Amino acid sequence: MTRTPLISGNWKMNLNHFEAIQTVQKLHYVIPKGAMDDVEVSIHPPFTDIRSIQTLIESEDLDFSLGAQHCHFEDTGAFTGEVSPAFLAKLNTRYVICGHSERREVFGETDEMVNAKVKAILKYEMTPIMCCGETLQEREAGETESKVLGQIEAGLAGVSNEQIASLVIAYEPIWAIGTGKTATADDAQTVCAAIRAKVRSMAGDETAESVRIQYGGSVKGGNAPELMSQPDIDGALVGGASLDPDEFASIIQFGR
Ligand code: PEP
Repeated sequence: MTRTPLISGNWKMNLNHFEAIQTVQKLHYVIPKGAMDDVEVSIHPPFTDIRSIQTLIESEDLDFSLGAQHCHFEDTGAFTGEVSPAFLAKLNTRYVICGHSERREVFGETDEMVNAKVKAILKYEMTPIMCCGETLQEREAGETESKVLGQIEAGLAGVSNEQIASLVIAYEPIWAIGTGKTATADDAQTVCAAIRAKVRSMAGDETAESVRIQYGGSVKGGNAPELMSQPDIDGALVGGASLDPDEFASIIQFGR
């Protein structure tokens, strides 16, 4: 089974819509022709930039998928400040991150909310990028797998095997996000293999072989080739480095 790697740029709360347009144009310009033949790239700007980036991607036929960083699980209603998955689908958004550790830790998202979001994103035929990961204390206490696999079990509860096969899971050790510290390729591979084994036990072999598992946490051009060459790592969720088109392009060209 060949899984096309997905490299996703999570811009977090950075770049207004003018800056976003320039960044995507520069990224397109610096990626050598052919470098994206075997890899998919999604860009996840802030909500206020999404319409501008959709227009740019579609009008110039750029080979990037549009992504969002978050959404609510309801279609409409009295949820001040929230964004409906239906509205994202209307903008041809393809990927939506859910359960990012910053949403869980700063905004109190629970496993149950993440599960509801996974279902809402799938309902609108978009692909969830469901994040999981352990804190430093959990890692030091030897609780990495129990924490991460518990998040997988809760996040995918009630999701069909076919739907699980289509989605993306991002393993992001929280201590490695935005800190410059990266899990070693071996450690990242061990956890990603455990995630795949968990999916296998929940949804069977075929599903486990299809689901894509990204690694995230201070991925840069320098460490991308080793991380991406691991058998259970199918791409990267990139924060800080995705804001710099040259650095992001070097991650996209990993292994070349
Ligand atoms: C992230 O935002 O999901 C992330 C992994 O950030 P960084 O690459 O900056 O560690």
